[in-house]
Amino acid sequence: MFARSLALTLAAALAAGSATVAHEGASDVAPDRQAWLEVCEDWDEWDKPAPPYRIHANTYYVGTCGIAAILVVGGDGLILLDSGTEPGSKVVSDNIAALGYDIADVKAMLVSHEHFDHVGGMARLQQLSGATIYAGQGASPVIRSGKADPRDPQAGMHEPMQPVPGSVRSVKGGESGMIAGVVFTPTTTPGHTIGALSWHWSSCDAVSCISIVYADSLSPVSRDDYRYSDHPALVAEYRAGLARLAALDCDVLLTPHPSASEMVKRMSGGAPWTNPDGCKNYSGAIGLRLDRRLAEEERAVDDR
Ligand SMILES: [Zn+2]
Repeated sequence: MFARSLALTLAAALAAGSATVAHEGASDVAPDRQAWLEVCEDWDEWDKPAPPYRIHANTYYVGTCGIAAILVVGGDGLILLDSGTEPGSKVVSDNIAALGYDIADVKAMLVSHEHFDHVGGMARLQQLSGATIYAGQGASPVIRSGKADPRDPQAGMHEPMQPVPGSVRSVKGGESGMIAGVVFTPTTTPGHTIGALSWHWSSCDAVSCISIVYADSLSPVSRDDYRYSDHPALVAEYRAGLARLAALDCDVLLTPHPSASEMVKRMSGGAPWTNPDGCKNYSGAIGLRLDRRLAEEERAVDDR
């Protein structure tokens, strides 16, 4: 029986054109992902070094264990999504070098949202690369000045960031653009911050193309005295952004905090890596969190 099942396994492996022979109990996880999983945990530390791994075709994870940074290799240079914190950006530049690429070839840096854990390293990486930064209209002034927007639900909670003296371009949601040979589309998804963007692009290998979505942080987290209920226009935009996100063509979902999209679980095979419902599910879960948050605010008023 064992011999027969082994023969079947071998036949299946050969039929699939696989160069490796499957061993019973062997892991299907690619070696670079395995190396990542050996170092990092779910909801890990923001500045903890992690090795880079391939997400798909020309798209790589180059962030730390706890904060994502994504490298896309375009026909006309490299594109980096997010920098991590100031100290974390050292891990990002080391990972780009470890993959055999030169930081000087980074032509563009795309921003998710204007908080220090995702863009605190932009000033340093721009100094090394000279790259143009592309950010949401509400995020650009924060990145240039290093100072929080007073409308940000978390304004006052974080230390100022290093101001970015180089080129920062504001982009509008829905306006696709060719950046270093790759077409990127930003979607405005405010709520966690004012200037938040989610980005998507197409990643192609020899067989097919898939849509990768880097969906921004959308948690309704704020300082203690902030009430979302006092800002109905932002709440309306928040919900509209969630609807836009849910409607995206979404094969692989990535998030600035990897665990927000269960990256560790998906990398280790506990949930599908590719899931066309990923964006819809993510958006739906955030919508419920927002509902709960607004209900809590209402109850807090009733209790007064
Ligand atoms: Zn944030």
